[in-house]
Amino acid sequence: MIDYRTTALWRDVTEKQWNDWRWQFKNRIRDVDTLKKIIDLSPDEEKFLRECLNHFRMAITPYYACLINPEDRNCPIRQQCIPSPHEMEVSSFEMLDPLAEERDTKAPGIVHRYPDRVLFIITRKCAMYCRHCTRRRLAGDEDFSISNREVDMALEYITDHREIRDVLLSGGDPFVLSEKFLESIIRRLRQISHVEIIRIGTRTPVVIPMRITDELLDMLKRYQPIWINTHFNHPNEITEASAKACQKIVDAGIPLGNQTVLLKGVNDSAETIKELCLKLVRNRIRPYYLYQCDLAQGINHFRTPVEKGLEIMSKLRGYISGFAVPTYVIDAPNGGGKIPINVQYVEEINDHEVRMRNYKGEYYVYPNVR
Ligand SMILES: *Cc1c(COP(=O)(O)O)cnc(C)c1O
Ligand code: SF4
Repeated sequence: MIDYRTTALWRDVTEKQWNDWRWQFKNRIRDVDTLKKIIDLSPDEEKFLRECLNHFRMAITPYYACLINPEDRNCPIRQQCIPSPHEMEVSSFEMLDPLAEERDTKAPGIVHRYPDRVLFIITRKCAMYCRHCTRRRLAGDEDFSISNREVDMALEYITDHREIRDVLLSGGDPFVLSEKFLESIIRRLRQISHVEIIRIGTRTPVVIPMRITDELLDMLKRYQPIWINTHFNHPNEITEASAKACQKIVDAGIPLGNQTVLLKGVNDSAETIKELCLKLVRNRIRPYYLYQCDLAQGINHFRTPVEKGLEIMSKLRGYISGFAVPTYVIDAPNGGGKIPINVQYVEEINDHEVRMRNYKGEYYVYPNVR
């Protein structure tokens, strides 16, 4: 951890500024020269970084940058925000749009893949650009913003499709938008009678927790039921500030879930994921999905064998509270959707019985019925 008050870069920053999300957003670290002021970079690293930034964007909030352990080159926080030379490697099975979201786009920003719900991508901006992002092709394209006409078309699509019960606002990160703009979309969604729930996917509680303001929550509260999913990947990301942001969300009556991406060298151990899940539930955040890493371009170095994910899952189920255990999924390439990858507890099911093992590997039989 870095104390911002002792860094030359932010020495003159007041506490009020530091806790203001607009200040944090405006002062994101986006270039190598600024980055060098808070952590040491070897000449090689610096060279790679400059090259990498010609291809991919970097933006790190000062808050998140301070969570880096400057002594540890493999720091899990550092790896999520500072590009590595491996990003320049492209392997044969990587794809620009690994989830075929473009194919399933039915109206501007609307990805309609499942029967009763849609993803509604309303921005490409994020507070931070995560190195492992699956939507790299979109995230960081800061000049893009959905036009009023596109919002009209998207809402028209949702209105015309009565089967849509659940609209998932995503991006980019919807919470980098102004309350006014967000509200203009949410208000109109609420007027569509068949839209039962509105969900928001945001990493702001993790990377810029000061974004979770009373004003934002007061606005959201007027449009319940709202559900939020956030994206903690490592226990070190649950700080006093991020925990407080999450508590505020839950106190506003908004259920808060968490999606984690399994990342090699960042969180690919049962101990780390277990600690994360326990810390999440202590803060009233429900672990929702554990994602196998996607095939987006330049993130191959983050991929773990699927067996690793299964091993981690087998060390969670039974050992910790059931609701602290996420569902391990692969978001299938080519738009197959999320497929749960389960530890096999059942050895055989026949007309007479179910032969199975419990979490400790002990053998049990349940008599079946016809
Ligand atoms: C993940 C996703 C959803 C939401 O899926 P849930 O399993 O309900 O959380 C909806 N649409 C698309 C295209 C998605 O990728
Ligand atoms: S916040 Fe989400 S969309 Fe934005 S860069 Fe991170 S993972 Fe990608």
